[in-house]
Amino acid sequence: MDWRTLDEQYIVSSYKRLPIAIAKGEGNYLYDTAGNKYLDLFTGLAVNVLGHSHPRIVQALRDQGERFLHISNVFLNQPAILLAKRLVEQTIPGKVFFTNSGAEATESAIKMIHKWTKTDGAGREGIVVLRNSFHGRTLGAVRLTRQAHVYQDFPQPDFPVYELDPEDTAGLRAICREAKPAAVLMEPVLGSGGVVPLSVDFLREVATICQEEGMLFAMDEIQTGMGRTGKLFAYEHAGVTPDLILFAKGVGGGLPLGGVIAGTKLMNQFKPGDHGTTFAPSPLSAALGNVVLDELLDPAFAASVDEVIAYLWAGLEALRERLPEQLQALRGKGMMVGIPLSAAPEEVSRLQQAMLDRGVLVDVTQKTIVRLLPPLTLTKEDVDRFLESFAAELAELQGAKGEA
Ligand SMILES: *Cc1c(COP(=O)(O)O)cnc(C)c1O
Repeated sequence: MDWRTLDEQYIVSSYKRLPIAIAKGEGNYLYDTAGNKYLDLFTGLAVNVLGHSHPRIVQALRDQGERFLHISNVFLNQPAILLAKRLVEQTIPGKVFFTNSGAEATESAIKMIHKWTKTDGAGREGIVVLRNSFHGRTLGAVRLTRQAHVYQDFPQPDFPVYELDPEDTAGLRAICREAKPAAVLMEPVLGSGGVVPLSVDFLREVATICQEEGMLFAMDEIQTGMGRTGKLFAYEHAGVTPDLILFAKGVGGGLPLGGVIAGTKLMNQFKPGDHGTTFAPSPLSAALGNVVLDELLDPAFAASVDEVIAYLWAGLEALRERLPEQLQALRGKGMMVGIPLSAAPEEVSRLQQAMLDRGVLVDVTQKTIVRLLPPLTLTKEDVDRFLESFAAELAELQGAKGEA
């Protein structure tokens, strides 16, 4: 089968694809239909937190699959209730609303915040977000995504959105002098915006301003959550307490699942009929989510993740010392790494393909930033394998420059 041709013929071309068809995944590796093996440092965009075909995930799939796949929200959903209880216990006092995706988590957040402005938040309107933020691609979420290429050609739902630069607390105070926004929503580490971590000081000051002004403080943890940055959720690094936490990506163990954890100010805003969805929470996704939490909350697993994170960053720093010309900056937190390259976008695409030829799958965001979103099950041997291939390709990058 020529999968590439069939794909071009029958699937809407809204994605740029790598020209490989995956036959199976096992642990931290993917295998294509031609039998090539790839170290997966992309994990389906931060979804496969435990790698591929994790035995406990596969077992949970079988167990729940044999019980039932879908029952709808008219019944009590045990796996989802259990998952919600555990998410709340690990974060903020409140309740969970489940969705099928990240964008729907953002939509739910927008609606919930808006309902709050009809009661306790009366007189407030609109949401403050960061420049270059990404909060999703449905029309409500796309309004909060401040990357022009994502929103410019589509309708703009009519609620005020205030754009702020990361780290600009004076800017936030200025917005609050002019207007009365209902909430601030931010990714603790901007993901598709270029892997930009917000400082602990900034997050703390934003939390303080929100409290002083009576605004809601919402964290989009869709990419940064589920252990990605070395904590279950990245806001924990700053010791702040959000009013609302958005989650998705890794939470369903590879299956679609998202939602919001609504703190005490928001948890009772939705009344029956206010919001809903047919599929979420899928009992199957929730069952897998419980397995992911079992692993992440296991102290031995958490300790090994910390160890590999330290090893990865030490290796990256050493590489930067060796190749200061090509590797000028390293950004990110934990298992979320951004490596901005000063080469042209085509050269960075070539590097991505060359890494693939060497059996290592990396992502590229904002055209020239190599992004790593490895499984949390990454090993030191995997790190060595990546660093060796990356060092060789970075040296090539300089070679290409020298010839030009
Ligand atoms: C991926 C992502 C979303 C959107 O999630 P989808 O499941 O693709 O709709 C929203 N916010 C952040 C920070 C993301 O990384």
